[in-house]
Amino acid sequence: MGVQHANEQVRWRLAHPGGRRRGNVRGALGGRRADARASSCELWSPAMAPAPPPAASFSTAEVQRRLAAGACWVRCGARLYDLTGFVRHHPGGEQLLRARAGQDVSADLDGPPHRHSANARLWLEQYYVGDLQGDPQGSMENGASDSANTQKTDPAMGPKLKVVDWDKDLVDWRKPLLWQVGHLGEKYNEWVHQPVTRPIRLFHSDLIEALSKTVWYSVPIIWVPLMLYLSWFYYRTLAQGNVRLFTTFTTEYSVAMPESVFPGLFLLGLFLWTLIEYLIHRFLFHMKPPSDSYYLIMLHFVMHGQHHKAPFDESRLVFPPVPASLVIAFFYVFLRLILPEAVGGTVFAGGLLGYVIYDMIHYYLHFGSPHRGSYLYSLKAHHVKHHFAHQQSGFGISTKIWDHFFHTLIPEESHPKMQ
Ligand SMILES: [Zn+2]
Ligand SMILES: [Zn+2]
Ligand SMILES: [Zn+2]
Repeated sequence: MGVQHANEQVRWRLAHPGGRRRGNVRGALGGRRADARASSCELWSPAMAPAPPPAASFSTAEVQRRLAAGACWVRCGARLYDLTGFVRHHPGGEQLLRARAGQDVSADLDGPPHRHSANARLWLEQYYVGDLQGDPQGSMENGASDSANTQKTDPAMGPKLKVVDWDKDLVDWRKPLLWQVGHLGEKYNEWVHQPVTRPIRLFHSDLIEALSKTVWYSVPIIWVPLMLYLSWFYYRTLAQGNVRLFTTFTTEYSVAMPESVFPGLFLLGLFLWTLIEYLIHRFLFHMKPPSDSYYLIMLHFVMHGQHHKAPFDESRLVFPPVPASLVIAFFYVFLRLILPEAVGGTVFAGGLLGYVIYDMIHYYLHFGSPHRGSYLYSLKAHHVKHHFAHQQSGFGISTKIWDHFFHTLIPEESHPKMQ
């Protein structure tokens, strides 16, 4: 059924060339969404690109040569993908993907164990390099047969087209994105949640562009010394023995705060951070901007949208120091206002460490390869699903406890029966 439907779409597109270029792309995306349940990655391609670009083709020997040189190429039917640059980012693990070098991964995309999301399949198309010459049945690796081959040889499918055609994206990637996203209107929300592998350019000015980027290690370099200084300072203040809680209500029953309470207050700050992290991610970063507000869309894109659009843009993953210091200063002032100086300061120092740990974990979840079965592995799986398929759940980064608490955990894979 899925194949039939896709074929119809191809014919329709071919019969209506040129018209409504942008609309076509969007329509095609919608069509692909509807076909997302179809089992072959092949179905994606024709609907996406109305004008077929000339596709490169590779002989089995050529592909073998590249594999022997260490490249990681896989195929979906006859379509070839060079995943060499992606293998270490593969959410399901690098080894899993490397073990399939040279093979047809159509079945693996469907799982079990994992049914890859619509966005994961679109992601794959970014690595399309061309087609395998001749009959794909003569596989690159002996014995790797392909159940979906009938589709590949269907003449109605036409030439294999490259899905990701940057010229036909809704934005012009050669220009700064910041001024374009607001124009996307109601298309923004879908667009921003379709991740791409390319880096983002936000500003015209090279200087401002450079200032808008942050290397991951600037976070510990800037904030850990401050956290240590504050910890030392407030520990000493507590040690002087003059700090008491609740003095504003009563002097008789106020509670002494000796230095022995320091670890508890510090841990309280760490714990409170995890809640703040959850609340900010859920209610601020994932606030849906009104489609008619150019500037709110822009704001959303700067705050978090860009990270969903380009999850592997490492220069835009951690918080830049300037906006971070505004948020951090806010929490500092707030805690100092509601608690005695040394108490609020100690809780703050713990929260600051929580923030640093959060940003480092977030970076690691995107670029690290935690061992299967480890805590970080489960966090990574959780976060990858947040990015690729369940953007309205799975908001915890450094812990999932608040997702448990607020019932926003991403459901475990149910291994649906294959058709
Ligand atoms: Zn995978
Ligand atoms: Zn992320
Ligand atoms: Zn998010």
